[in-house]
Amino acid sequence: LAAQSHSDHQTIVKLSETVAFGGEELVIIGGPCTVESLEQMETVAQKLSISSVQALRGGVYKPRTSPYAFQGMAEAGLEVLARVRSLYNMPVVTEVMAISQIEVVAAHADMLQVGSRNMQNFDLLKALGQVDKPILLKRGLAATIEEFVMAAEYILSHGNPNVVLCERGIRSFDDYTRNVLDLGAVVALKQITHLPVIVDPSHAVGKRELVAPLAKAAVACGADGLIIECHPEPEKSVSDARQALSLEDMVNLVDALKPVATAV
Ligand code: PEP
Ligand code: MN
Repeated sequence: LAAQSHSDHQTIVKLSETVAFGGEELVIIGGPCTVESLEQMETVAQKLSISSVQALRGGVYKPRTSPYAFQGMAEAGLEVLARVRSLYNMPVVTEVMAISQIEVVAAHADMLQVGSRNMQNFDLLKALGQVDKPILLKRGLAATIEEFVMAAEYILSHGNPNVVLCERGIRSFDDYTRNVLDLGAVVALKQITHLPVIVDPSHAVGKRELVAPLAKAAVACGADGLIIECHPEPEKSVSDARQALSLEDMVNLVDALKPVATAV
């Protein structure tokens, strides 16, 4: 179902009445790694809503490496997302880690993210096939392109046609960058599937000073959108502080992407 040969159209995945992946417009999702407070999300939304960022991100169920690290605000964080969503009229994207969270996440968010660590959680993928919300499927930490497409196939074959693929870097031997951004995969996925493909340069490189050039490269090679982490006080971010852009840098980056997007 995911294969290019299955459809003669590029699939368009609607995020809201005005925002859609896979069409003419580059879709940019911005926000912190983790929802920390209403005040934090309001500061982010205030700044991004007057830029060309179309959607907000922020995790409330966090897949942290250490069980002692902050695990996210859970339902209280969903309330925060719902609040900024309506105050600023911006769609929100957030991660769902378990089948038990699907109902409440779908009631508050416009798009459900499957994180890298869950890309092959097949029961979760099957359950998301029955949800009436678009799914942002991130590539697994060490997943091949074939495995990534098959993960999407699980969602599609269980009834949900609205899947957006996200390349977010894969593990390799060099830890100078957090992961290695596989732009070849972006091009390949655009060729072999009809699904929209977006890029997460933040988790790919893990260092804020490397995010902007890779975001531009992603757009230049045909990505349909970007998801980028930014924070009002990047160094104080409770998670992924090293890769968070300041809100100013985020807005500047989005402006700098426009000419790249028009050129492709
Ligand atoms: C995230 O988006 O904050 C996240 C945990 O991403 P990934 O699953 O790509 O590591
Ligand atoms: Mn993160």
